[in-house]
Amino acid sequence: MAIESINPATNKLLRSFEPLTNQAARQKIALAADAFRAYGNVPLDHRALWMRKLAAILEQETNDLAALITLEMGKPLEAARFEILKCADVCRYYADHAARILAPESIPTEPNYSYVRWDPLGIVLAVMPWNFPFWQVFRFLAPALMAGNVALLKHASNVPQCSLAIEALVRRAGFPRGTFQSLLLEVSQVEAILGDERIAAVTLTGSETAGRAIGAQAGWLIKKSVLELGGSDPFIVMPSADLDLAIETAVRARCVNSGQSCIAAKRFIIADEIYDAFESRFVQGMEAVRVGDPMKAGTEIGPLATVRALDLLEAQVKAAVRVGARILTGGERMLGEGNYFEPTVLAGVPRTSAVYREELFGPVAMLFRVQDLNEAIEIANDTPFGLAASAWTRDPAEQQRLVAELQCGGVFLNTMVASDPRLPFGGIKRSGYGRELSAAGMREFLNAKTVLIASAEPAKSHPE
Ligand code: NAP
Repeated sequence: MAIESINPATNKLLRSFEPLTNQAARQKIALAADAFRAYGNVPLDHRALWMRKLAAILEQETNDLAALITLEMGKPLEAARFEILKCADVCRYYADHAARILAPESIPTEPNYSYVRWDPLGIVLAVMPWNFPFWQVFRFLAPALMAGNVALLKHASNVPQCSLAIEALVRRAGFPRGTFQSLLLEVSQVEAILGDERIAAVTLTGSETAGRAIGAQAGWLIKKSVLELGGSDPFIVMPSADLDLAIETAVRARCVNSGQSCIAAKRFIIADEIYDAFESRFVQGMEAVRVGDPMKAGTEIGPLATVRALDLLEAQVKAAVRVGARILTGGERMLGEGNYFEPTVLAGVPRTSAVYREELFGPVAMLFRVQDLNEAIEIANDTPFGLAASAWTRDPAEQQRLVAELQCGGVFLNTMVASDPRLPFGGIKRSGYGRELSAAGMREFLNAKTVLIASAEPAKSHPE
């Protein structure tokens, strides 16, 4: 089946590509394997030079690249520009910090001499989603290439033009042929690629369904895997919070990327004392968000990326209403041809319902009233996911409890959750395993090789 690039604002076909044949894909794996052998000898400084060049090209061509993102997946142009600049940041972060992260770590075992060195694993397959079609790829690509790994990308099938553009950018920055290749593939072809013995590891960002498939296969093959999956992040507001800032941030945190972000706040858990004020002002905030043509300046929410995503979100809202949820605003499709959905607020979603446990991947918020911090933490943790959490309180004792008791990969106090190249990013529970970004992200695809050189003296310790 052809891989189609479709403008979600109009549902008009932009371009169509034939997927690679299995034979062509095998040739690309062979090229990657050759590239890996040579790439290991490229000095780190040289890789850093190419990485900085890549950052510079991204900055010079921000407008064109951002327009391509908006055209293919519909996020507002301003957000797409921000995404490209963030990719430049992550390239510079790893160009600057790779030497520190990759430096051998001395571990005293007197009288012997011992240390850990960090070796690349080889070819890493990256299966990526469309919601941040550049950023998701760059946050993997920058540490992988700086560490000496090479990469194959199977991007989401609705962003083939972004996928090809990234490969071209990496080549233009100077990275050798074969170090980063984009493979236009159907999902059914991924199994054979991952099964190829030349592929060392896999990273997937995407849905639970894809995570299960990739994780199961990687487990069977005994290949290293990192899974960054869905989330239904809580946004907790306690009475001592700065309510104005919390409400303004809550709207942004739900609507970021037109609501299609794994770390968007999805469940708003509000203390009884301030609930009524929060609810009415949050609803006003959601109603004021400007939905429309993503190419137009000032648009805050564009269309959802695909018809399938729109259908699913609509079905989830209807299912919530069927089990007793109240729609405080929104709830319907809008604006004709494109995949637009009204910013929506639901209250009273029963905790026993299916939708309560699902991820809502679009601008739909669920509100919950709680009596105290115990109940807030209990609801926040009552989810299959465990990506991150935003919590608002000025009380140090409450802050301590939230940090310690929230079951997720990151807790952000008095601000919204956001990724940052300097900080580890990832989840627990069904949000996946492993980390991206920072030193932790780079080390996921490295071999921590223990080296011990025996001293001339007899060793004092016993062998294992
Ligand atoms: P998806 O359907 O899982 O797609 C993600 C990628 O996986 C695409 O390249 C897709 O290819 C591929 N894929 C799908 N099924 C597969 C299978 N069985 N085997 C191998 N590859 C498969 O996810 P999505 O719905 O597009 O993306 C949204 C999801 O990603 C949300 O749940 C979101 O929370 C999550 N996400 C997580 C993070 C994070 O960092 N934790 C970040 C962003 C998004 P095709 O496009 O060809 O189907």
